[in-house]
Amino acid sequence: MKKLLHFLKPFRLPIYLVLILILLQSLAELYLPTLMSDIVDKGVVTGDTDYIWKIGGFMLLVAAGGMICSITASYFSARAASGFGKSLRSKVFSHVGNFSLNEFDQFGTASLITRTTNDITQVQQVFIMMLRMMVMAPMMCIGGIIMALSKDTKLTLVLAVAIPVLIIIILIVQKRAIPLFKAMQVKLDKLNRVLRENLMGIRVIRSFNRIEHEKKRFDEANWDLTQTAIKVNKIMAAMMPTMMVILNLTTVSIIWFGGIRISNGHMEVGDMMAFIQYAMQIMFSFLMLAMMFVMIPRASVSAGRIVEVLETTADIQNPGDPIKPVDQLGQVEFQNVSFSYPGAEMPAISNISFKMNPGEVTAIIGGTGSGKSTLINLIPRFYDVEKGKILVSGTDVREMTQESLRQKIGFVPQQAILFTGTIDENIRYGKKDASEDEVKHAAEVAQAAEFISEMPEGYNTIIAQGGTNVSGGQKQRLSIARALVRRPEIYIFDDSFSALDFKTDAKLRAALKEETGNSTVLIVAQRVSTIMDADQIIVLDDGNIAGTGTHKQLMETCRVYREIVMSQLSEEEIV
Ligand code: ADP
Ligand code: MG
Repeated sequence: MKKLLHFLKPFRLPIYLVLILILLQSLAELYLPTLMSDIVDKGVVTGDTDYIWKIGGFMLLVAAGGMICSITASYFSARAASGFGKSLRSKVFSHVGNFSLNEFDQFGTASLITRTTNDITQVQQVFIMMLRMMVMAPMMCIGGIIMALSKDTKLTLVLAVAIPVLIIIILIVQKRAIPLFKAMQVKLDKLNRVLRENLMGIRVIRSFNRIEHEKKRFDEANWDLTQTAIKVNKIMAAMMPTMMVILNLTTVSIIWFGGIRISNGHMEVGDMMAFIQYAMQIMFSFLMLAMMFVMIPRASVSAGRIVEVLETTADIQNPGDPIKPVDQLGQVEFQNVSFSYPGAEMPAISNISFKMNPGEVTAIIGGTGSGKSTLINLIPRFYDVEKGKILVSGTDVREMTQESLRQKIGFVPQQAILFTGTIDENIRYGKKDASEDEVKHAAEVAQAAEFISEMPEGYNTIIAQGGTNVSGGQKQRLSIARALVRRPEIYIFDDSFSALDFKTDAKLRAALKEETGNSTVLIVAQRVSTIMDADQIIVLDDGNIAGTGTHKQLMETCRVYREIVMSQLSEEEIV
């Protein structure tokens, strides 16, 4: 909770204003019962109508002043709180943007979403409440007691009994409610996770007829959350009437003992009426405190979850004094590189050494799970190597800024991801200021121009969320165009031709050859035909290099490569 306080700094002014306004409001409320007792004792009893009008009018003024303070305070506290929420959300968002893939794996997407939305809302709400009650509760409590004492000392003994009872009840409620509030946030996370998987996997769920199963899974998570919420609310609901009983019993006792004191001539009627109101104010201030003590632990769970995100630093950081690589074009070199995923027993790739030169096409082939994507993800530094090093343009990737490194790379991931927006915008994602011709050219090379022109609005056709209105192969070609428009020094294609038919695949590669010219090209593929004519082929087997060379050399020297080729090509093709 404390760690979030400095996010309040920009809102100092409205916060101070709110505190002052609430102070004034509390003073007004403390003053009103006294005025009332004056009217009763000095006006009503003596029949002095002028006095009643005069003080009555004054009372109205004080009440109106209090109300205006209260409304203005609400306005400014709402403003400060939503501003606070906004800046916190954008801070979390931009912080998460710096995470390497490791941290994403660690939190999970669903939890990151809950933390950025629900958790921040929780904190924001409590913040509004605290602003109000932080001043109000102690003012009303202490001020009320002083005023009550000034009216009648002996009657204050009634409060000496009522307040401890109130405190005991508050403590009991807290002890039971707080753990439940903590549990709720975790359960909400779980519900979000189930919901997310459901929405993302809807096609799979339907095709495997698992709707019932998923419904059950959702119902379980939903039920779990509901049960906890009901339990909490039961406790909170029971608290209110109990409090009212105590409040009313207190009033009755005050009237009882006050009546005795009045008939003995120790006290006046107006004072007793004022006393009742002060007693209420004191007890309500305890209620406010109780609410605060219930809400704060709940918010501090949320605050803790937010701080956890904010305090997680990406394990991939820009170096202190980055080296700006001399423009050696896009040479890439792996030197004895090993890497394992966190928690994995075996390294995903080990002892990888090879070199890729500008103007050449390097291909990586290997079975699924052999570590191809892992290897490729190390070049843009999505993960850091464990041993060895990767040089890009002769500089260790850890010694340059991530921006300058990624600037050099046109990356086509295995999973083609498109964003909501037009086709044009999606291609332009690779280069903001690309001209219309550049976009068209990239689409042509990527063999996307044809299907784009057949779309109802050409380049202005809207891609639906998740790219659901284009086929897998079209998606791949668009994400290739996005990389091409950058004209980077290094092209990386991770299995990017897998959804293309052989003819398009061949056409695309032919066009690519002219396009990439002096750049370094790295192609990962499953199909031998895609990579057969590469300048250098690297065969990966279980995270190790099984062989390096041209198709011809590998056919003679590498058993793994021969097996892959045999399984895919007919005899004539091999020769
Ligand atoms: P390929 O692209 O060759 O099919 P990958 O590089 O994707 O293979 O995977 C290599 C190995 O690393 C696999 O055994 C896989 O289970 C593991 N792996 C891949 N991604 C992760 C990850 N994010 N966390 C943990 N293990 C992973
Ligand atoms: Mg892969």
